[in-house]
Amino acid sequence: MNSKCNFVPVLSSNAGSCLTPDNWQEVNTTNACWHLDSLLLKPGLDILKKITDLKQYLVWSGHLTINAVSLKENSAGVFSLRSTYDGSKIHFNFADFMELIQQLRPDAVLLPEQSVQNHPDWWMTWPDDVYPYISWRDADAVSPMRPYGIYSEAKDMFDKPPHYIFGNMSPERVRGLCAEGMRFIETNEPAEMAFWGKVYSSSGIIDITDAKYELDFEPIDNQCSCPTCIQSFTKAYLHHLLQHTPLLCQRLLIQHNIYYYNAMCA
Ligand SMILES: [Zn+2]
Repeated sequence: MNSKCNFVPVLSSNAGSCLTPDNWQEVNTTNACWHLDSLLLKPGLDILKKITDLKQYLVWSGHLTINAVSLKENSAGVFSLRSTYDGSKIHFNFADFMELIQQLRPDAVLLPEQSVQNHPDWWMTWPDDVYPYISWRDADAVSPMRPYGIYSEAKDMFDKPPHYIFGNMSPERVRGLCAEGMRFIETNEPAEMAFWGKVYSSSGIIDITDAKYELDFEPIDNQCSCPTCIQSFTKAYLHHLLQHTPLLCQRLLIQHNIYYYNAMCA
């Protein structure tokens, strides 16, 4: 790993799943993140337990992070989540979580908050080839005998900068964090914005759904070299396409926004 700032998109989000692995790589994405709660719902715990090669399963050859922060352990030591597909409940404990990580072997994992306080010996069985990130809130309470990073949510106030930050972040915030030396910036914001027709340009955010682009025959941004702009798709064409072939258009808009964030972090 080098010392540059790395933008990490969320491939398990609704907007993130619009692009194929090839689409992501076409816009220079080398780091990607999946949220564990999304994976537990689809493909589900039973299938996850059978996956022997996670990168092959997700068709991802780049750096792969699993973010497990949304999982909350209750006082009985149980993580619960409800399926958005059939309403069924999924329960598992920290031992199951550890087993899953030992088997899936992503490049990095963001551990659930407080789990390292509740299970102080976690690091003894943590796999050497999986880089752990622990919450900045837990950092003072534990000192594991192995290398680890600190994560924080974008909305948190922190006095010591973490190594990995995640959440909604505007281009301005991302630029500022890169300048401050942040290593990993995970955000679904550019994909989500594009999903709703909002794209970044050197003159600000463009809402492609706005009727004023019906007859605008310029690309989103003349300075941009993303696959969408390089093919000279005009705002008028994209405006029309979003109404009639939304899935195709969303893919083109997401590629533009992701390229934009990757260029900011490069
Ligand atoms: Zn572009």
